Amino acid sequence: MKVGFIGVGNMGGPMCRNIIAGGHSVVVCDKNPEAVERCTALGAQAGATPKEVAARVEVVMTSLPMPANLEEVALGPDGIAAGAAKGLVHIDLSTNSPSFVRKIGAAMEERGVPFLDAPVSGGVAGAEQGTIAIMVGGDAVLFERFRPVFDSFGKNVFHMGAVGAGSAAKLVNNMIAFCSMAAAAEGLMLGTAAGLDPEQLVEVVQASSGDSRGFRFLAEKALAGDWSPKFALDLGYKDIGLAGQMADELNVPLSVAPPTQNLMRVARSMGFGPDDITSMARVYEKLLGRTIKG
Ligand code: NAD
Repeated sequence: MKVGFIGVGNMGGPMCRNIIAGGHSVVVCDKNPEAVERCTALGAQAGATPKEVAARVEVVMTSLPMPANLEEVALGPDGIAAGAAKGLVHIDLSTNSPSFVRKIGAAMEERGVPFLDAPVSGGVAGAEQGTIAIMVGGDAVLFERFRPVFDSFGKNVFHMGAVGAGSAAKLVNNMIAFCSMAAAAEGLMLGTAAGLDPEQLVEVVQASSGDSRGFRFLAEKALAGDWSPKFALDLGYKDIGLAGQMADELNVPLSVAPPTQNLMRVARSMGFGPDDITSMARVYEKLLGRTIKG
């Protein structure tokens, strides 16, 4: 299949490279030339703009940081809709709110470009190994048509319902994961204050009922003292804010997510926004004047 891929950063890069490895013919575009090169080195072609990519492929995928980036890439003057070849389909793999992707999806459909939202979960390691989960919203026939492409870079591929349903599932997942990380940060600070060895404490939780992926991600970063971003705190802050918006729209009370969001807000105010999401632990480390790893 001829696939366009726009936004080959931390997540998009490895997803795109797995699509290339799956034997698809890929045209790639990113504002960062080095990121493009890591894909062209494996046989992808480069496209100068999303518009140019859209003219050359059957399906174009996007993996972009913020809602404004998607809007520009989809609907801007050099965007996908402006260059769409007849029959082109747009699949967005970024994390956005259901209401926002419904708005973009409707605008793309008006311009003759069917749209699916297909956010992903599993982190950079999962993207590299091709084991990420993909949560798809939109037409079921289109979903089946593009399943071979989804299968080339994801392991657990779900069709969730209409456009927006993939994004709803993704926001719920991330909200749960971030709350687990906040609990992990508190628990590890508490346990080490009680004199427990941090490495042994992590081993104990991993063998017990406190374990979760959020706990593991945070513990690994905290024990290494390495906060380089696999998933930027700024992006996670976007996600938890979008989950809050969804709760507002649906009048569903949230009691655990708002303090977690506030912890992330404090981490941003301390300058940790571009660092890894697990930097929420550093707020406690700063407050208490010591590190989890000791
Ligand atoms: P990133 O910042 O590493 O990558 C985004 C890429 O998009 C960059 O290379 C950037 O140059 C490019 N870009 C931005 N605007 C562009 C434009 N107008 N035209 C062309 N290229 C443009 O971000 P990421 O971590 O890969 O995240 C991408 C999306 O995936 C986000 O929506 C994020 O929430 C979601 N996500 C990330 C992770 C993760 O672990 N990093 C996991 C799941 C989902």
